[in-house]
Amino acid sequence: MARYSGPVCRLCRREGMKLFLKGERCYGEKCAIEKRNFPPGQHGKRRAAKLAGYGLQLREKQRVKRIYGVLEDQFRLYFENAERQRGITGEVLLQLLERRLDNVVYRLGLATSRPQARELVRHGHFAVNGRKVNVPSYLVKAGDTVTVRERSQKNVTIQHALEEVKGRGVPEWLQAQPERFEGRVVSLPTRAMINLPIQEQLIVELYSK
Ligand code: SF4
Repeated sequence: MARYSGPVCRLCRREGMKLFLKGERCYGEKCAIEKRNFPPGQHGKRRAAKLAGYGLQLREKQRVKRIYGVLEDQFRLYFENAERQRGITGEVLLQLLERRLDNVVYRLGLATSRPQARELVRHGHFAVNGRKVNVPSYLVKAGDTVTVRERSQKNVTIQHALEEVKGRGVPEWLQAQPERFEGRVVSLPTRAMINLPIQEQLIVELYSK
C-alpha cells in the first residue's frame, strides 16, 4: 500500500487524537484537533459515535501505525517480531517502534516531527556510533550514540528544530546533548517511559483473531 500523501491533520481528526505529524503547529492553537475534534468528511460527526470490539481494535492499530509512520505490512512484521520476543507482546511492539532511528531523532529534539526526522535520516544527516545510517527503521540499542554528522550540523532544518523544541523534554531512556549535536540511548524504553495514550492490548487482540 502506498504512503498517504494527503493533509495529515485529517489523520489526527480521523483518529480523534493528536498524532504530532506537523512539528510546531501541533503544539499551537492552529492544531486542527483543537478546533475540530471530530472525524473529517460530510458525516464526520456521525462517525464519531462510540466504537466497540473490532472497530476499537482497528482504530488503535491505525493510531500507532500513523504515529510512527509505518505501513501495514511493515507494522505486521513488527508485531510478529514482538510476538517472538520475551515479554508482553503489546509492550514489546511499542518498544520496537520507539527504537526506530527516526523516532529517536525526533525524541532527541533533532527534528520537529517524526515525518521530518524520517526525511533527515533518509538524506544521510545522522550517524550511529560514528557510522552513517540512512535507514529510518534502523533499531537503536542501549549504549548507542546518535550524532548529527559534522557536515550536517549547519543544516537549517536541524538548527531550526534544535531551537524550536528546546525545553520540550527528552524521555528518560535517552540523553540529549544538543550542544554536541548528539544523543545517547541510556537504556531500552519500558512502557512507562513511552508517553502514548494507547491501549496496545487492543492491537494484540486484533492480530490474534
Ligand atoms: Fe495533528 Fe499536528 Fe495537525 Fe494537530 S497540527 S491535527 S497534532 S498533525
